[in-house]
Amino acid sequence: MKYKLLFLVLLVAITTQLLSWGGLGHEIITRLAIDGLPDEMSFIKENSKYLCDHSVDADKRKNDDLTEEHKHYIDIDYYKEFNVGEMIIDKAALIEIYGQEIVDDMGILPWNTIEVLNNLTIAMRQNNKDDILFYAVDIAHYVGDAHQPQHLILNYNGKLTDQRGIHGRYEIDLINSNLEELQANISPIELTYVKEPLQLVFDYCTQSNSFAGLIELADFHALKYSGDEYNEKYFHIFWFRTKYMTFHQFSNAVEDLASLYYTAWINAGKPKIK
Ligand SMILES: [Zn+2]
Repeated sequence: MKYKLLFLVLLVAITTQLLSWGGLGHEIITRLAIDGLPDEMSFIKENSKYLCDHSVDADKRKNDDLTEEHKHYIDIDYYKEFNVGEMIIDKAALIEIYGQEIVDDMGILPWNTIEVLNNLTIAMRQNNKDDILFYAVDIAHYVGDAHQPQHLILNYNGKLTDQRGIHGRYEIDLINSNLEELQANISPIELTYVKEPLQLVFDYCTQSNSFAGLIELADFHALKYSGDEYNEKYFHIFWFRTKYMTFHQFSNAVEDLASLYYTAWINAGKPKIK
């Protein structure tokens, strides 16, 4: 019995480690985005629980589908154009300069988000309920990932700055132990129709990237004052230094996801899906 329990605890620990935003962060973003949609989008609203429950399906697919992982990030600071404020957002143009392999390796999160948005729009237009749920789940996940700053950098797990494990310390340990405070600080959203979705996606990716340095500094700072250990004091300081940015990122993720759902629905001709 004891061993069974130990196995279960280990399994939960391993599973949790694989899920971005600790899993629960994705649920929060999805639920609040759906809450912000107009009543006419009743099909999405009625399936809120299903969509929240499946908001980390895309992470779980990574083991079976080798093409999946690249859809969850973009190491956008690899590109010199980005680093001088002149990012090329057209994928074909970027491939022309860097080649297909590098563009794939650096992550395809923005373009994949647009592909899912287009598929969601088609599914809504065709009244295809299974596809609507599938793509609505996926877009929620990819929008959530894009608002986690460490999904937008080359130094995603601290290997360039000797901060190994920083990714999990931030997006899993810190988020899961501060969920209540986090939820209480997510701002109300303003729903907008997105005229240029790819530009919106690159805008929020750029914003996320700009907060990555703050997380790295907070990690150094917390370690300095915690006796060089990842103890309770460390996590207290780490949260103290990153929580306002985290509130901001979650609020933006909710608003951007709701606006993309809304945009798909408008572009599909505002269908009444029963
Ligand atoms: Zn992910």
